[in-house]
Amino acid sequence: MNIKRCGMKKFSIFIILLFILFFSAQAQELNVEIKPESVGQGKTLVIYLESPGTLKNLEAEFLEKEIRFYEVGKYRYRAILGIPLTTESERHNILFRIKTEDGLKIEWKETVQVKKRVFKKEFLSIPPEKSKHLTSKYLGKEGRKIRKVYKREERKQLWEERFILPAEGWISSPFGAYRVYNKGKASWRHKGVDIANLEGTEILAPNSGIVVFSEDMKVHGGTIIVSHGQGIFSILSHLKERLVRKGEGVKRGQLIGLMGQTGLATGSHLHWGLCASGVVVDPLEWTKKKIGD
Ligand SMILES: [Zn+2]
Repeated sequence: MNIKRCGMKKFSIFIILLFILFFSAQAQELNVEIKPESVGQGKTLVIYLESPGTLKNLEAEFLEKEIRFYEVGKYRYRAILGIPLTTESERHNILFRIKTEDGLKIEWKETVQVKKRVFKKEFLSIPPEKSKHLTSKYLGKEGRKIRKVYKREERKQLWEERFILPAEGWISSPFGAYRVYNKGKASWRHKGVDIANLEGTEILAPNSGIVVFSEDMKVHGGTIIVSHGQGIFSILSHLKERLVRKGEGVKRGQLIGLMGQTGLATGSHLHWGLCASGVVVDPLEWTKKKIGD
């Protein structure tokens, strides 16, 4: 009896040891890459995860939001995240929970440093006939409409290379600027970059994708939204003319519209916004380097 019990004990220790060895081997072979290690407010963060096998459940959380991963190669997963402009400049946790093919559950955390950035403060004056839109119902209505479009799922990556500037001209207002309208009647952050030039200047698709929205609105004016896939969207606003329709595929550099000053605009310009994982980010960063490989 004793021997048997002893044997059983040995056997169960052996099993536990095997389990620990297996578990640590699995954990060791998991490769996590976070780029960059320290990221600025309003910038883009890319997370790669490589595993020795298929991951059944890959869940991750950052800033109390679920992270969406896409398979970008064999056992290679990628998430592209926007860092909200208002994120505290400190170290933040990224929590990972995975389940391997063998049913092993592994949980761990990584950290990422968010850096403070200095943003411009701008004071703008909107003429009386347009200023009613500053606090009007249209603003909220359009915002909700756009956020709904950003929820559209497109599993494939449609962008290629770096993004291009969608119009020639000069940057009349940078991303993230604090905007104070009509002596403080309204204020918010600038959620894109403004490129100013003459009315009728060509607007090009900043990258390839599918047109998921093409409409005229009161505040945003003539607006096109292009889905570049995997949660990345471009919004192009204040257009004089829209030359593409919803559902059309567009190529990087393709003519899609003409610059104007429709909606709540103080002059002819293009507003270009970029959205990553539901968060607005600095579009110019995407023109300087290729994000995602
Ligand atoms: Zn703008």
